[in-house]
Amino acid sequence: MANETVSAAVKSALAGVEIPGGGNLADYGGLSDIIVTSGAIAFAISVAPGMEAAFGPARTAAQAATEQVAEGRKVMVSLTADRAPPSAAKPAATRPPPVQREPVKGIRHILAVGSGKGGVGKSTVSVNLALAFAAEGLKVGILDADLYGPSIPRLLGLEGQPAVREDGIFSPHEAHGLKAVSIGSMLTANQAVVWRGPMATSALRQLLRETDWGGLDLLVVDLPPGTGDIQISLVQQVPLAGAVIVSTPQDLALIDACKAIDMLARTNVPILGLVENMSYFIAPDTGARYDIFGHGGAKAAAAAQNLPFLGEIPLVMSIRETSDAGKPVVASNPGGPEAAAFRAIAASILAEHPDFRP
Ligand code: ADP
Repeated sequence: MANETVSAAVKSALAGVEIPGGGNLADYGGLSDIIVTSGAIAFAISVAPGMEAAFGPARTAAQAATEQVAEGRKVMVSLTADRAPPSAAKPAATRPPPVQREPVKGIRHILAVGSGKGGVGKSTVSVNLALAFAAEGLKVGILDADLYGPSIPRLLGLEGQPAVREDGIFSPHEAHGLKAVSIGSMLTANQAVVWRGPMATSALRQLLRETDWGGLDLLVVDLPPGTGDIQISLVQQVPLAGAVIVSTPQDLALIDACKAIDMLARTNVPILGLVENMSYFIAPDTGARYDIFGHGGAKAAAAAQNLPFLGEIPLVMSIRETSDAGKPVVASNPGGPEAAAFRAIAASILAEHPDFRP
């Protein structure tokens, strides 16, 4: 069935789901848009604060009803409560304990790669770092959580959706020795904007926990730029071994990077250090080096913040071209100087974290 037809079928299926207080879910004002892609169906149910438990059975029934008409698509139903008004806050003694960060089965360590803003090469660094760790003998996966600009499929040359097994578990793509799953393969080009916070975080949870990672030493998570819902949700859901922040040397990118660092630090995520990407330009014809962006800014910012500086990656055509061709430079030219720059960063992280090794 076409996606629009499936959306209508879901809506009719939801008409059979009763909600607390009477009525059905299809007519309920708190039901979000129903997003249907060729691989997934997602929607959110917003409820009044305190009503989450009461709506639990409706959510379960909605999931089951939707699966009936999903034709193999992955179904993600999220339940979300608006923040309780201050007067409704419970006294501290009876407040529920904070959400437990639960490790993901089959993954020993999770490393997040973030940036203050888009376009600084965060995904490029994520993929090449993941490959550099794999070259060190680690079993590595990559999860593309960059909802607003998922680029891991392009970088790794992935095509189509990850397969969904009979039991509803994703089988990740495999490319250049990495296991890879992208939130991008669940979305079509224009859908990111309509994935509101709860849907995005629920997609993240499912990608993390309902993927057959097959035993990893390290999962690299490519975060969206900035400090939004995905970051917060990841930090709340799983214990992170640390975060690497990517910035270009320019002041503006660095100011944004500092905000991202600040947010992660406040949530007690260890910042493993800063990477300066597009640090200097190497002319392809003469090999001459130009500091077009005022090279060194990230190093200075790292020092000012008392953070390790992990290394610098030059701005070189080969990095862009190999990325666009789905053959990242660490895999396609492992002996070259670009790969060496990424491997040096992985090596310095491993020197600080020998426990990442198998
Ligand atoms: P982000 O994830 O921060 O949005 P990307 O990794 O998608 O950024 O990179 C943005 C663009 O810059 C891509 O076209 C990529 O190929 C290019 N790029 C990233 N790093 C480099 C580099 N060191 N040298 C040349 N091009 C780069």
